[in-house]
Amino acid sequence: MSVKTYKYNDKTQLTEHLNVQNFKCKCGKAHEIKIDSGLPNILEKEMIKLGADRIEVFSGYRCKKHDIAVGGRGTGSHTQGYAADTRYYKGGKVIPSKEVSLRLEDLGHKKGIGYRCGGNANGTHIDTKPRKWYGDEKYSKTKACCNSFYEYFNIPKPSTKKFIQVQTKSGVWCRKGIGFNYKKYKLIPNLTICELLKKNAGSSNGYKWDKVVYNNEVVYMPNKWNKIV
Ligand SMILES: [Zn+2]
Ligand SMILES: [Zn+2]
Repeated sequence: MSVKTYKYNDKTQLTEHLNVQNFKCKCGKAHEIKIDSGLPNILEKEMIKLGADRIEVFSGYRCKKHDIAVGGRGTGSHTQGYAADTRYYKGGKVIPSKEVSLRLEDLGHKKGIGYRCGGNANGTHIDTKPRKWYGDEKYSKTKACCNSFYEYFNIPKPSTKKFIQVQTKSGVWCRKGIGFNYKKYKLIPNLTICELLKKNAGSSNGYKWDKVVYNNEVVYMPNKWNKIV
């Protein structure tokens, strides 16, 4: 990732929903715009993660003067092209910053996340400055508030494990490898839920095979008769 400098009137499309103009300094002067190449990408990925249909960057790049005018020190991530203060929308409604912050953490964004930026519960500061900083901007724009927003909001972190459920009356024979060359090993009954290790781990005999855990053993099954649950 690297910071690029664009001309004031540059209209280059950076991602599906973001253009250079979205990051323009709001001071009103016709000066250059700095944008880190990783920033539009994480903003766009977050849009997909949230199922949002609109993103608003209410503050992107800031020249030193404007940064000071809005309460910064004139040296922060906005003045370096690393940051955007955002609001995400779905069906005309703004998505709360709490949800935006959690989903960014889910995406593995280990750079800057500022919950409640802009003085309310709807704005989120997102930056790509190379260091981890999770803050609550209602209280501080510089001090970190936590290592994980799940801890900060006191909600359990969801399991990242995936599961499949066998959905055929007669059950499915699993095997120790991929393909009917391997012997029938165990019959997994209908409606059994197994942890999914790898979807489509391989193909054989006209089927795609899943790698799953059944009764604490790693086994394989053709995936025609199971669904992700
Ligand atoms: Zn400016
Ligand atoms: Zn910000």
